[in-house]
Amino acid sequence: MIGEEHFSEGELVAVLTTEPLDRLLDYRAPEGGCALGAFVEVPLGPRRVLGVVWGPGEGSFDPAKIRPVTRVLDAAPLRGEMRAFLTRAGTYTLTPMNIMLRLATRAPGLGEGPGMRKVYRRGGGMPDRMTDARVRVLETLEEFGGAALTLGELAGAAGVSTSVVKGLVAQGAVIEEESPRDLPYPHLDPELPGKPLAEDQAKAAESLCEGIEAETYGTTLLKGVTGSGKTEVYLEAVAECLRRGRQALVLLPEIALTAEFLTRVEARFGARPAEWHSGVTSTERRRVWRMAGEGGLQLVVGARSALFLPFCDLGLIVVDEEHDTSYKQEDGALYNARDMAVLRASLCDAQVVLSSATPCLETWANAEAGKYARIDLTSRFGVAELPEMRAIDMRAERMEPNHWISPTLARAVEARIKAGEQALLFLNRRGYAPVTICRACGHQIGCDDCDARMVEHRFQKRLVCHQCGATKPMPVACPSCGAEGRLAPVGPGVERLAEEVAARFPEARVAVLSSDLFASARALKEKIAEIAAGGADIIIGTQLVAKGHNFPMLTLVGVIDADLGLQGSDLRAAERTFQLMRQVAGRAGRAERKGLALLQTCQPEHPVIRAILGGDEEAFWRAEAAERQRAGVPPYGRLAGVVLSSPDLQAVFEFGSELARRDAPLRRIGAEVFGPAPAPIARVRGRHRVRLLVKADKSAPLQAALAEWAGQLKPPANLRMSIDIDPQTFY
Ligand code: ADP
Ligand code: ZN
Repeated sequence: MIGEEHFSEGELVAVLTTEPLDRLLDYRAPEGGCALGAFVEVPLGPRRVLGVVWGPGEGSFDPAKIRPVTRVLDAAPLRGEMRAFLTRAGTYTLTPMNIMLRLATRAPGLGEGPGMRKVYRRGGGMPDRMTDARVRVLETLEEFGGAALTLGELAGAAGVSTSVVKGLVAQGAVIEEESPRDLPYPHLDPELPGKPLAEDQAKAAESLCEGIEAETYGTTLLKGVTGSGKTEVYLEAVAECLRRGRQALVLLPEIALTAEFLTRVEARFGARPAEWHSGVTSTERRRVWRMAGEGGLQLVVGARSALFLPFCDLGLIVVDEEHDTSYKQEDGALYNARDMAVLRASLCDAQVVLSSATPCLETWANAEAGKYARIDLTSRFGVAELPEMRAIDMRAERMEPNHWISPTLARAVEARIKAGEQALLFLNRRGYAPVTICRACGHQIGCDDCDARMVEHRFQKRLVCHQCGATKPMPVACPSCGAEGRLAPVGPGVERLAEEVAARFPEARVAVLSSDLFASARALKEKIAEIAAGGADIIIGTQLVAKGHNFPMLTLVGVIDADLGLQGSDLRAAERTFQLMRQVAGRAGRAERKGLALLQTCQPEHPVIRAILGGDEEAFWRAEAAERQRAGVPPYGRLAGVVLSSPDLQAVFEFGSELARRDAPLRRIGAEVFGPAPAPIARVRGRHRVRLLVKADKSAPLQAALAEWAGQLKPPANLRMSIDIDPQTFY
């Protein structure tokens, strides 16, 4: 090993631990020394904690008191590029390094060595005496070919007690041996033929592959309507990456989408890739983590945190549905996986593919500015065409009270059912009714701990706070005036819409797709498969349905309230509405049948609604970009959100005001601070929330100034401060 990269026994090393310490700790290299980046266990007070050798020791501590590293863990050392990535990502998001290290070590039992287990195979010897049970064991081993089985697996499959197996081992007829627990993943074969590509698909694939061949950093926006074959195209880039012996990572926004994708990978490459998300068992997570570092896997499909796996030679990161808001981690380390993917790739000479039908404005602007390449797939594959889109002007429709499906939309649904096709009614509101009001006194039922109204969930027979998750039974009497039987729902959620649908289309089979109605990701997956196979006539869904599911018989999408996303103070409201509506509309007519999307709106003349209907996306982006440029907000300026929270309202306001007064470090870089103001949701879980917003020029060194600014004051006990760089939402 090179001198610099290895520390000999007794040398001082600086170790980064997962403990909240805010600095590196000095230790002495243990017997046998340790490599730079090695995973180690070190003593800290009376405990032993996980750490990584981050560099040479500083020697600032009393040398006599420096303790040795307890042991070096049996795991591939964290590579220089990964250490650089964690450092840069931590600096950018102002996240302490111990938390960054935790992100990179989210696999249980890392310290336990490779982990051996006993496995059993057929041996050369013959048993002295054959019994039925012994015959079954030997036959079972035969059946499994050369595969090694554990004692439990073998005895179970043969239907014998474990002592029978042990008896055969004693006689040499079965061999017992140790085998590592974390096995490499089955080989993916990039040479298996893919689908023949259409001309524009082939051109797109070719240009992605050029970047992969060059083995340099580059980011490409792969833009194409839903169904244009973006997935087919980037699978070709994955193939090229595997051919070159490098690893690939595909990030998906939603666990529910993984199953369909894994099947496609298996069809393309002949085996299933590694999977990484919250639904994966801890044994399997450990295996993925280790194999990523040792090169025992070629492709990982996963959620945003897969970015922090210790890949040994990452050549490609695909961010599918790159505009999806779930890529932004909203608690703990506040990072956007899309941006971090670009950072990581730039440090390891990898390519990034950002795939979307409706990219976010940041990505669009980066492509405009030439920082990202851009490839457009303009037509849908095969005969599938983009649906026709029309507005239903709700001001002109005759609506009965407490009904939300206009006569025009109802007629369209009717026609689809008659034709044996599916219709989707989209409403981005979970539950039965967003508001419960007392008809006697006008009181609206709110959450006890938050500044939010409680949403009635009739399936669960409870009121639920969508902010903190608190629930309570629906009261009989008004909590304010005591009147009984006067509480009434106001406005629709998907459950209430389902009632209207059942009343209007009594013959139709109705499926409601809302995340809270499914106990598990598996249950949801099964429902989606059932619907895709024709198991429903009318689908009622929240934004869950906007995310890439393929329903071939779906030909009509009705958007119940297209104006919903246009309200609110969020700077991304227009962009979000635009994306969501286009995604939802993209669900219609994915197979041979042509689709129709109908948008119920009270403001058909609104620029966003007009852009959606007109299909002139570039015009929408340009107008939105000009608006943001004028306001000096992202991507043309920089924002940081600072949220202070405390059970004590006065304390939190005072602290916020004091911070705002001491704005010299911010003014020095030309940044401005706004607030403190009550956050849009002013109380969550009994904590009062106050927000400051910092706005700076695009080129200003914002992080350093923010750190200096926030570091001036020590928050009082019980007051929490979180800083969100590039905030996506303004909660
Ligand atoms: P996107 O990712 O843009 O939504 P997909 O790659 O999922 O599009 O393609 C949509 C559908 O069309 C999929 O069922 C896919 O298998 C099919 N498809 C796309 N391109 C081809 C092709 N060249 N040959 C055969 N089927 C294709
Ligand atoms: Zn609440």
